[in-house]
Amino acid sequence: MLSKQRTMEAIEKMYEMFPEAHGELQHKNPYELLIAVILSAQATDVSVNKATPALFAAFPTPQDLANASVEEIISKIKTIGLYRNKTKNIKACAQQLLDRFDGQVPRTREELVSLPGVGRKTANVVLGDAFGIPAIAVDTHVERVSKRLRICKLDASVLEVEQTLMKKVPEELWVKTHHTLIFFGRYHCTARSPRCEVCPLLTMCQEGKNRMKNPTTKVLKK
Ligand code: SF4
Repeated sequence: MLSKQRTMEAIEKMYEMFPEAHGELQHKNPYELLIAVILSAQATDVSVNKATPALFAAFPTPQDLANASVEEIISKIKTIGLYRNKTKNIKACAQQLLDRFDGQVPRTREELVSLPGVGRKTANVVLGDAFGIPAIAVDTHVERVSKRLRICKLDASVLEVEQTLMKKVPEELWVKTHHTLIFFGRYHCTARSPRCEVCPLLTMCQEGKNRMKNPTTKVLKK
């Protein structure tokens, strides 16, 4: 596994490659971000961004969303995968924001994960991007890149990947690192075709070295 120092060397190189890395879900406030992140489960940010302007124009507050009918909500988000279940979750989530949090998005992980449709990853995105509270959300890109580079163990669970990153990266860099790992995984070290041949991290990446020696080597997808 990469040491703490080597991990930061790798991540610093990624910062250089993607200095503009940022959250790509469009939002104007914590409520919109929370709903957008719930909608993004197993869907692309692009597909969510296409639907949310109309959704938030129609339901600009938790009160509006909680009062909306299921059919009204579905009409706004039916282009997003799993939209029926997500409709149920965002409506119930808006209702709980009203009932339990005075219509505000809570600022602790414990409270966030108590909301319908909100898991640890969603809560971490909201903490970091809505409130600037240090957190590392582990999505498929963060997990794959961390494993390919052997920042964490190959058999680590999502929670273990998060905990390993939190140990190896200084807290003030958690949010930046989360965005940078996603950009690196989305645009360079992709699931199917990682660009090992032009990768500045190749000398420290076991997965890349294996692949360059034998291009038929199956890449670690996750
Ligand atoms: Fe990803 Fe290949 Fe770079 Fe390793 S060498 S980080 S597998 S692109």
